[in-house]
Amino acid sequence: MKDLNVVVLALLGGLLGACQARSPSGALPPRDASQSANQTTGPSSGGAVARRQSHRNNAPQSANGSATENAYDDNGDVVGDEPEDAQDGESVSGSGFDTGDDNDQPNHGAVDDPRINRTIHHPYDGMAQTELERLLKEKPESLGSVSLGRPNAGGLFNAVRMPDDPAWKLVDPSHAYGTEETVLSLGLALHAVFEHFPSTEAVSIGHISARSGGHLNPHRSHQSGRDVDVGFYYKGAPNQWYARATPDNLDLERTTFLVRSLVDKTDIEMILIDHSLQAPLEQTLLEQGYNADWTERVFHGGHGRPPIVRHAPGHATHLHLRFRNPIAQQSGQRLASLLVQHHLAVVPPKTLTHVARAGDTLAKLAARYGTTMHEIRIRNGMRDTSLVAGHIYTIPTSATSSGSNSKNLPLSSAKAGSPVRK
Ligand SMILES: [Zn+2]
Repeated sequence: MKDLNVVVLALLGGLLGACQARSPSGALPPRDASQSANQTTGPSSGGAVARRQSHRNNAPQSANGSATENAYDDNGDVVGDEPEDAQDGESVSGSGFDTGDDNDQPNHGAVDDPRINRTIHHPYDGMAQTELERLLKEKPESLGSVSLGRPNAGGLFNAVRMPDDPAWKLVDPSHAYGTEETVLSLGLALHAVFEHFPSTEAVSIGHISARSGGHLNPHRSHQSGRDVDVGFYYKGAPNQWYARATPDNLDLERTTFLVRSLVDKTDIEMILIDHSLQAPLEQTLLEQGYNADWTERVFHGGHGRPPIVRHAPGHATHLHLRFRNPIAQQSGQRLASLLVQHHLAVVPPKTLTHVARAGDTLAKLAARYGTTMHEIRIRNGMRDTSLVAGHIYTIPTSATSSGSNSKNLPLSSAKAGSPVRK
């Protein structure tokens, strides 16, 4: 682990150096805005269960308000305050992680890297499963970071903790683990801001993933080392974690530069930002004379692709980033069953989603789906037992629910008086 960190830091240093050499002025050439999903905003509900103001779960729902298999796409459509996956509500296959038909999965045998506009070979290319198994037993660190499954039902192996650095501060270092690709990309983008603007104060980094991935309270995603919560840069004030950003207090220069860096220098899949902040950010980019086509694609999509910057409730206090990990994701496909077989990874529990309606109680849901009230509370980061009409709840339904991470997370882990999202 330590060695891996050293390697990653060295790589990070090298990459940063390379980028500075390419663009000393900090000017970032536009890159093709990339894929992902449709933007979906859901209707709110009409039920009569306790209605409370919440940043969670403003989401699409079924008409009858009962359990629903998600009807929307993968890749961060707006469900609750976290991106939802298409396959939630479907089973996870028995012996391994379901990598399913996620259209974001890399090709076998080669990895397209749009940053260098060429196809690179995957580190496992040419290796038989028996060879991978031998390495897993004898030299597991040589297999690199492995992102298993999907952000909403996944795991992590050979994780790297985000290193400490003057450019950022870790809010919760024990849950700041990602893949090498995520850690490198995040460091690259935050360093770009730090170095471009004199006296930039360290920005907050919230949760990435738990060391072994899996469910991380109170998130739906953040399970496979590809999701990161990052605080905003604020004007003339400390970059306080979870402070509500407004068009007035947001440091638009630094924040737009971060968006540019993420899109141009990393393999970012999506950036969730509250819609109230998107127009000022977009306006700032245009006023800076930044490429209008690029801005249009990043904020509104185009050429058949959805936008990278998307709205999701709860993201006026932080940005949620999701990186593509072409290498670690493919490693996950190759290694998932081996890792499970050797008890080095836990298959994510089968879950489904339920839209609460009038008359629902935690006890009824637990009975109906064969789980416990405690499990439902953990899965949904609930601080009390009341359900909110119209909100979508993730329900663990299999005996394997309550992965190793959730067991260690007391419900009180959310700061009193603050939203549960971290
Ligand atoms: Zn997040």
